[in-house]
Amino acid sequence: MTSVADNLANIKKLITVYEQQYGRESGAVQLLAASKSQPLEKILAAYQAGQRRFGENYLQEALKKMSDLAANHPGVASSIEWHFIGPMQRNKTRKIAEHFAWVHSVDSDIIAKRLSEQRPAHLPPLNICIEVNISNQATKSGVPLAHVLSLAKECLTLPRLTLRGLMAIPAFHPDFNQQRQECHQLFLVWQALRDQEIALDTLSLGMSSDFEAAIAEGSTLVRIGSAIFGQRA
Ligand SMILES: *Cc1c(COP(=O)(O)O)cnc(C)c1O
Repeated sequence: MTSVADNLANIKKLITVYEQQYGRESGAVQLLAASKSQPLEKILAAYQAGQRRFGENYLQEALKKMSDLAANHPGVASSIEWHFIGPMQRNKTRKIAEHFAWVHSVDSDIIAKRLSEQRPAHLPPLNICIEVNISNQATKSGVPLAHVLSLAKECLTLPRLTLRGLMAIPAFHPDFNQQRQECHQLFLVWQALRDQEIALDTLSLGMSSDFEAAIAEGSTLVRIGSAIFGQRA
């Protein structure tokens, strides 16, 4: 079994390799460690290896990790940047607005408005991505392609949010070229918004099984879980 530190070093190396291979600028792709269902020890191991951005999916689990860290490792707690990447529920928005720096999974104007209203005044505006349903699967979360522009415009009017970009979880494809095709769908929407003078700097795309395709298609932030931490409990 390889260590979290080894896995992290390996992923970082691959990101650099793919940046070069696909003509991306060096340093264009950031790494978010997706730590859902992983124990605190593994988060600490990644932290000690230099990782600062962590993504969590389940609010209660994330809050528990944050309070355990604040109690036992205050230096670590204060320098981690937490990203919420899980499905959004209306009754959870307040705690998310209070405890996270980023939310990647904004998928309705109601959620966006609540996050803006509930973002505490002493914190900077909450960074958000709109989650897009690129595969148009009824079961998947995210807004349909046709609604992305209007939701983006709505988010721009909300004072306590900073719209940073788009996020998607493509349908699983073992085939690299199919992965690229799906990733390209999100890139096209991202470009279309930028063509409308909407300033976006984040394309949150790519997980353990498809981050090469995502980087090839313009991802600026990959969310990697199992390839860093091992299989989830
Ligand atoms: C779990 C998760 C990831 C990471 O998935 P891996 O396949 O373990 O890399 C990335 N993004 C989201 C939204 C997730 O829920």
